[in-house]
Amino acid sequence: MTSTRQLSDKVRTELLDQIPSGWASQAACAASGLDPDAWFTEPGEHAWSAARAVCWSCPVRQPCLASALARTESGLWGGYSEAQRATARSALTEGVPVSLVLQLGETTGRAA
Ligand code: SF4
Repeated sequence: MTSTRQLSDKVRTELLDQIPSGWASQAACAASGLDPDAWFTEPGEHAWSAARAVCWSCPVRQPCLASALARTESGLWGGYSEAQRATARSALTEGVPVSLVLQLGETTGRAA
């Protein structure tokens, strides 16, 4: 499911400010050797879990997550499923700081 919650322009700008230019060149998924389709499988499937593990070792996970939160994407981005990003987006609309939402994934995203 894709979130329909709308982020304010301020929050969207804060998210985009977290994304350094050239970040995608460090994307672990590109060098992982996994089929890119793995990022678009259903949560819980073996391929999805493998892709998610790559995300959690990715040096640009937070910029990737910030990018996906600022847009509306399908699939797994920044180690977050669509449902997890919907939850994160809701937190942002309720005033939770961008930096905290991105950092919370370091502990809650892995266990979810
Ligand atoms: S966090 Fe995941 S989807 Fe994003 S660049 Fe890294 S490996 Fe790719």
